This record gives sequence, C-alpha cells and structure tokens, in this order.
Amino acid sequence: VQEEDIVIIGAGPCGLSAAAELQDQGFDPLVIEKENVVNSIASYPTYLEFFSTPEMLEIANIPFVSPHEKPNRLEALNYYRTVAERKKLRIRRYEEATAIVPEGKGFRIESTTKYGGERLVTHARVVVVATGYFDHPNRLGIPGEHLPHVTHFFKEAHPYAGTKVVIIGGSNSAVDAALELMRVGASVTVVYRGESVSDNIKPWVKPIFESFVAKGRIDLRLRSRVVAIEPARVTVRTNDEAGSDGAARTDSAAREKVEADFVLALTGFRPNRAFLRAIGVEAPEGNVPPTHDEVTMETNVPGLYLAGVVATGRDANEIFIESGRNHGKKIAAHLASLRDSATAF
Ligand code: FAD
Repeated sequence: VQEEDIVIIGAGPCGLSAAAELQDQGFDPLVIEKENVVNSIASYPTYLEFFSTPEMLEIANIPFVSPHEKPNRLEALNYYRTVAERKKLRIRRYEEATAIVPEGKGFRIESTTKYGGERLVTHARVVVVATGYFDHPNRLGIPGEHLPHVTHFFKEAHPYAGTKVVIIGGSNSAVDAALELMRVGASVTVVYRGESVSDNIKPWVKPIFESFVAKGRIDLRLRSRVVAIEPARVTVRTNDEAGSDGAARTDSAAREKVEADFVLALTGFRPNRAFLRAIGVEAPEGNVPPTHDEVTMETNVPGLYLAGVVATGRDANEIFIESGRNHGKKIAAHLASLRDSATAF
C-alpha cells in the first residue's frame, strides 16, 4: 500500500488547478487520472472554439497565451499539458480509481491500470474528487437510445457527409454541431424542447445559426421532443407543453416521423453521483449539489473534498472551468490552516 498525504482523483483543469494550489501551499499531492491529463477536453469536438477567453481558463498562475480571442481545443490541450509539466505535478496516468473507502485516519483508494489491469491500493489522509461529468451524458430514456447510430458525443462532421442527421438539444454543442454538419453537406434537423435555442449560445455563433435556419439550410424544430428512435428514423412530438404538474400534455401534440441516418443526442452531462454516494457523500436526488462547505469544498465526509464540476447539482451548468478552477485555492487554504493549527499533517 502506497502512503500519501493527499490524492486528487481526476486531472481535468480543476484537478490540475487543485494540485498546483496545494503544491504552492507546500503539499505534494498525487493525481490519479484514468486517461491522460484534461481527458474531457481531448474528447471535445476536434475543432471546438471555447466560449471563454484564455485568461478565464488559466490555472496555477501560468499565462495562457493565444493569438485568438477564444482559444481552440488544441491550444487548451497544449496549455494544460504545459502546466502539468512546468509545475512537475505528480500524475499517475491511465489508472482509474474504482473505490474510495474511509479507512483509519484517511481513505483507501482502489484503482486499476487501464493497460494491464493491475490493481493498486493507495492510502491517503485527504482525497480530492475532481472527476468532472463528461463520462455521464444526460440520457433521454427513450426507446432506441442504445442503437448504434445514436451517440451523445460529437467529434467532427466528416463521417456524416451526405447523410440525414437529427440533433437533439439546443445548447452550444448542438448549434456548433449543426453548423459543422451543414457545411459538409449533411441534411440537419435540430429538435429542441425549448421555445428558442439556449440564451448561452456563443454570441458570435448565434446569428450565423439563425440565418441558416431562416434560409431553410437547417431544419429547427422548437417545442419538440424526440420520443422514439428507430434505425433510419425518429419520432418527433411537437407542442407538448408541460402542464402545471410538469407532465407533458399530449392533447395538442403532433407526432411526426423524421428520417435520420444518425442521431446526435447533445443533451449535456451530469456528475456521477453514485460514485460520491458510495463514499458516503450526501448527494440527494434533484438539482441540489452534493453536500459540501462552499468555503472549504470539504464534503460531509471529513477529509474528502470536491473540486470542479463534480460539485454541481444535476444541472451541471453553474460550474465550469472559469469557476471550478478556484476550488483548489479554497481546499489548499483550508488544509494549510489545519496544518498550521496542527489539526492535521
Ligand atoms: P473534467 O474536465 O471533466 O475532468 C475530470 C477528469 O477526471 C477527466 O480527465 C477524467 O478522465 C478523470 N476521471 C473521471 N473519473 C475518474 C476516475 N474514477 N479515476 C481517475 N480519473 C477519473 N468551460 C469553460 O469554462 N469555458 C468553455 O469555453 C467551455 N467550453 C466547453 C465546451 C464543451 C464542448 C464542453 C463539453 C464543456 C465546456 N466547458 C467549458 C465546461 C468544461 O469543460 C468543464 O466544466 C470542465 O471540464 C470541468 O473540469 P473538471 O476538472 O471539473 O472536470
């Protein structure tokens, strides 16, 4: 069993930021990452342009220099990799934490290496969970969602050239994908339950999207839901306004079959709350964050902290890199104060 003071699970921007902040306070944390650093960003659409400016994505007091007003995915990968190298962060890559169990004065962390399947046990006095949300897309819970032509992840448009694609969703991911797909000659239908696409659409993208909708190049179905997916088509229900009880009304609903060689369900992500509950963190149903102190980021399990988007409720939009990167500072300040008062370490 390897003994550590502090283990951070997840080397996303917020896990890396926490590692650097702890290092600045004189700690030497170990980061365990199931893939490689900033794995979520590596999995973003290949040509993604961030909505944040570079300064808002900076961590560890290292400048993010970009010639662009909004950096792209490749620049962000380069930046976060560089931070990990410059700060000489201790990272065990391709190792997945499978269980965290309170044990003695701290926690027993069980993990498995991705290549080789070696099982490891590490003991830490403090654990910071920074596992993000990207592994858990919001499922639609409709028939056909599991079919092979349906995906929750969009990478790039080329494989869809010359095909009919239905996109489910109305956020940045859906709008960006619709534009990319249209440009490679896919026939694109966007189905969204809202009255209009999200208010958070990147302001420099929104007018372009709207103009292609107006020209009929993108078929936008608002107040609509995909209720079933079959090979080659989906069933769309329109005008299903929710009643006062929140349940969908079907009286005025119109159902229509829309052809779809592929379905992109770009409906967002949510943290894996079962993983937190298994450790003893209170994570009630509903859109409430897991129980934690917002000043220190410590959960109801003493010695267990949250960093990044894992600290959010089900609606994972209130924490992103811009805000979650500050969690590490809070954790480091709290642990330093405990050390200085000789409560721990
Ligand atoms: P993540 O980045 O998800 O990192 C979690 C890490 O933990 C991953 O590397 C994962 O592999 C690892 N992990 C998970 N489980 C385990 C385990 N059991 N064992 C070991 N490792 C594990 N935010 C912004 O601020 N600005 C933007 O412009 C922006 N654009 C976005 C565009 C897209 C398309 C998407 C999807 C998101 C965007 N976001 C943006 C949101 C942002 O990506 C997330 O908020 C951010 O990644 C959260 O960082 P994190 O460190 O909390 O989690």
